[in-house]
Amino acid sequence: MWFEPNADKRVGVDTDAARLVTASALARAIMRKIKATRWSEVLESGVPEPIHLTAAQIRLLDEHGSVLAYLGPKSKILACPECGRWMIAAGTMPKKCSSSLDCAAELIKMVDFKLAKVPPDLDL
Ligand SMILES: [Zn+2]
Repeated sequence: MWFEPNADKRVGVDTDAARLVTASALARAIMRKIKATRWSEVLESGVPEPIHLTAAQIRLLDEHGSVLAYLGPKSKILACPECGRWMIAAGTMPKKCSSSLDCAAELIKMVDFKLAKVPPDLDL
């Protein structure tokens, strides 16, 4: 089994903000699947069979380990494509960046990953 983003909602990995959001969505899907409450638990236990990650997914998760450490199974990470700041939200999700007075860009929201029988495209 493999994780792939819901096709109609993928945010891609073409910007730093999108990469971070995609990494956090994948991390949360893994945490939920193996019932981990912290990313560190996943790092310790590994991803169990029959689940597999692609090389691109492992690289993406590795790149964002410092942010994923803050992720809980019910929280979401949002990132701003303009200023690059990110935040964690649970419950009501803010729509716009409020990181600074001069930025009101629309935040990139996490999408959900689902299990698939074949590996996803490398571009996630
Ligand atoms: Zn911003």
